[in-house]
Amino acid sequence: MAVFNLRAYDDHEQIVFCRDVESGLKAIICVHNTNLGPAVGGCRMWDYNSDEGALIDALRLSRGMTYKNAMAGLQMGGGKSVIIGNSKTMKSEELFRAFGRFVDKLSGKYITAEDVGINPQDMAIVNKETNHVLGLEGKSGDPSPVTAYGVFTGLRAAVNHRLGRSDLDGLKVSVQGLGHVGYYLCRHLHEQGAKLIVTDINKESVDRVVDEFGATAVDTDEIYHQDVDVYAPCALGATINDNTIPKIRASVIAGAANNQLAEDRHGDILMEKGILYAPDYVINAGGIINVSFEENYNRDAALKKVDEIYGTLTEVFDASKAEGRPTNVIADELARKRVAEAKK
Ligand code: NAD
Repeated sequence: MAVFNLRAYDDHEQIVFCRDVESGLKAIICVHNTNLGPAVGGCRMWDYNSDEGALIDALRLSRGMTYKNAMAGLQMGGGKSVIIGNSKTMKSEELFRAFGRFVDKLSGKYITAEDVGINPQDMAIVNKETNHVLGLEGKSGDPSPVTAYGVFTGLRAAVNHRLGRSDLDGLKVSVQGLGHVGYYLCRHLHEQGAKLIVTDINKESVDRVVDEFGATAVDTDEIYHQDVDVYAPCALGATINDNTIPKIRASVIAGAANNQLAEDRHGDILMEKGILYAPDYVINAGGIINVSFEENYNRDAALKKVDEIYGTLTEVFDASKAEGRPTNVIADELARKRVAEAKK
């Protein structure tokens, strides 16, 4: 496999292929960029179809972390790791210990955390072998309410920019996905008088939001056509695509999901249609900001930093308007600029 020629390879500083025969560990750690500080990003456990698929995922995700951390104004670079294997059947104490030893060998250049397929108990095992772990239980706690607060903050910035209003009273918002983040986002919106239209594949999650916040429930495929001001994707990635864009009636898209645009070109289409898109990795950075405050954790300080999402997004929106270029492109450029300047 020609690593340096892969499209996903973006001048990554270091890629570590980890193998421990006894535990069965096969993992890849990607350190994308450390200009701003140690490369921080979660560890994902996934049953990849091929080693190349795992590498491409780790390369892309680690670059995404560089951008996310830079735009969040954190002194952290971007990295990510993947453990190749089925998270339901292949977990063991030895596997996570072996992974922890590989992380430790990087001497703090890469700091790991939870991601898809990994739970706090797994990270506690990794922590037996290395101190380079963030997001441990009993420290900064569940990041989701803080992510939701950041999304709420960014949504206000987008509404102010696109609709010229600073209050949310009567604002119609559709929320797709009422899990850890979506639920708390609904709570903030309800407290500010917004009218909620919601969906989830899980009926209990829908019932809770209907009961507690007076939300109106719709079927999962009906969420796109709703006559709303804001669409907040908080479930899956790639929900903004060729099929859904013609249906979307909202003038703002602001939600928590990762990788919301199926392809970058969908950012151009949204701009042409006058729909303001809040780039996902900027608006959903509340969780990583919270984790970055883990040492001597102080909730107020973390939330104050999360408040900066408002100003960062406004900078992106203003530049997009002034230059007539999509917000996702502007955000990527700003992130790269911050990373390049950190090296000087
Ligand atoms: P979650 O798994 O708790 O919630 C996702 C919800 O979406 C679930 O309730 C699920 O039933 C629902 N869902 C799945 N498919 C759906 C569909 N087709 N239509 C409607 N609902 C559907 O996840 P979460 O932690 O709330 O995260 C939500 C999104 O935000 C994810 O994309 C995640 O990657 C991203 N994100 C989360 C955090 C965080 O701190 N939790 C941080 C950054 C980004």
